[in-house]
Amino acid sequence: MTASTANIPIAIIGAGIAGLTLAIRLRQAGYAVKIFEARSEEVGSEGAFLTLAPNGINALKALGLAERISARGIQTLGIEMLNASGKRLALIDERKLQHESAAASITLPRSALLEELLMAAKAAGAEICFGHALTDLEREGACVVLRFANGVAVRAAWVAGCDGVWSKTRRLAFPDAPPPTYTGLTGTGGFIDLPAVAPTDGFMRMVFGEHAFFGYIKAEQGPVFWFDSFPLAEHDAMARPDPRALAAFTRRLHAGDPEPVGEIAANITHVPRAYPIYDMAHLPRWHDGQIVLAGEAAHAVSPHAGQGASMAIEDVVVLAACVTHHSTRPAAFAAYQELRRERAEHVVKISRQRGTQKQAKGRFALLLRDLILPWVIPFGARTAHSVMRYRADHAPLVKPGL
Ligand SMILES: Cc1cc2nc3c(=O)[nH]c(=O)nc-3n(C[C@H](O)[C@H](O)[C@H](O)COP(=O)(O)OP(=O)(O)OC[C@H]3O[C@@H](n4cnc5c(N)ncnc54)[C@H](O)[C@@H]3O)c2cc1C
Repeated sequence: MTASTANIPIAIIGAGIAGLTLAIRLRQAGYAVKIFEARSEEVGSEGAFLTLAPNGINALKALGLAERISARGIQTLGIEMLNASGKRLALIDERKLQHESAAASITLPRSALLEELLMAAKAAGAEICFGHALTDLEREGACVVLRFANGVAVRAAWVAGCDGVWSKTRRLAFPDAPPPTYTGLTGTGGFIDLPAVAPTDGFMRMVFGEHAFFGYIKAEQGPVFWFDSFPLAEHDAMARPDPRALAAFTRRLHAGDPEPVGEIAANITHVPRAYPIYDMAHLPRWHDGQIVLAGEAAHAVSPHAGQGASMAIEDVVVLAACVTHHSTRPAAFAAYQELRRERAEHVVKISRQRGTQKQAKGRFALLLRDLILPWVIPFGARTAHSVMRYRADHAPLVKPGL
């Protein structure tokens, strides 16, 4: 497709990870883009932190942002997994893989990632309209007319739905699409200053506790980055408890966990919100020739494999390559779906499998889990590492193997 200099811009719905990276990449290729974001503020504090895997950092290289974004986080060398008594179940050392992939895993506050992406999108010349929640869309000849909750209506050359797991774009464009599935787990997370807690030497330490799963990482300087996940009924997961009540619940959940998890949990006084964890195994269509989906709008990945953000950035690199390479939009979108869908569904599956390991309840189930995990984890790590080796920045138009 030739770069559009016409007055009608491409509309991107959502200024999250997929939306901002797509705007940057399309601007770099010379397209006029406008982002419409429901949030009224530029960068919220929601979402605590995430880890970008080597494949995500390598995808960021295509945008020229890998170094800047890596500098905002903690280099994460691997994962140490412990059982409820503090006994090591496995140590997954990613250093060899990271060396071979020429990229580290980076754990960073979500707000830092969004800040960098927002800055880069503005510098690239993308127009960003906050306070614009998409409510309706209508195909009108070669264009799409978008309507927003604030009464604004806009005409777009084509639309990229980057509006996350509950994507309104997806629901409007593909009303028969299956909804996301609740995985049975809910998560929380945050940052806490605890100088007495020892640094984790670059490793994310994760504990399969008696009642819940807990993970944390701490650099030489700075706070403890912590998260947890626990089984919860969907109805309860959708409730929005008071942050102090949620903190009290978190303290109780981890009170018996091995140190320093017990100590970290005991000091948690405020948990802004919980995240019910949904995923979406298969979406029959990612596009209709005028409207295309990327990131969680196309393939919601539960966070257990630490791949959702990386997959969103990969999507964008491949989508932008298809748009610039193919002479028609339908051909570009069809190529994008063909290149991405199988890999995304594979990652959704891996992540879902990891999540089931966190659902064990009762003494017998915990005992069995302790016996099985040391065998299962190395196999899971090999699968995860093969996902991390993919280089979207090198060959975005070549279908990756699984
Ligand atoms: C607790 C938790 C921990 C996670 N940890 C990791 C991790 O360690 N590593 C990792 O790779 N991934 C992780 N993830 C997943 C990762 O956060 C997502 O995969 C990633 O944010 C997806 O990016 P996205 O741009 O597709 O969606 P989002 O980041 O959700 O962005 C969607 C944007 O669209 C906007 N929007 C929604 N509806 C509308 C509308 N109607 N109109 C306009 N705008 C709209 C939203 O406000 C939002 O800004 C985690 C997720 C959770 C919940």
